[in-house]
Amino acid sequence: MLGKLARELRLLGIDCAYQKEANSEQTLKKAKNGQRILLTRNTKLKDKESVFFIESEKVAEQVQQVLEAFPNLAFNPMTRCLDCNAVLVEREKESIKSEVPFYVYRTQERFYCCPDCGKIYWRGTHYEDMKKRVSKYLKK
Ligand SMILES: [Zn+2]
Repeated sequence: MLGKLARELRLLGIDCAYQKEANSEQTLKKAKNGQRILLTRNTKLKDKESVFFIESEKVAEQVQQVLEAFPNLAFNPMTRCLDCNAVLVEREKESIKSEVPFYVYRTQERFYCCPDCGKIYWRGTHYEDMKKRVSKYLKK
């Protein structure tokens, strides 16, 4: 339900696990054990401990709500895999030659890899869009 929010928070470098088909009670227990806060739009969980209720349906407003409620979150924009939350590691350019399009290989110098899913990130055109999104979130 909050998959998009999870990706946006990861874009900001915030440690954010996501469960697709979560049994609420189980997820809540897991959150408590891992000392995490459960972000949810499930009204049944609204008043429980370690739960943060997301008001808006719009992802930009959701991000804003989280940032305002947790001003001390550790940011490090664009350092996490958007798909699986793992911290990206830099890879030698030569080592990814066969894994990215030739044009990208030719035009980019630095590559980052997700240790979990293997996805490779570089600072291509989408990077500028992401940078704009990040600065918009952090400006308010
Ligand atoms: Zn990944």
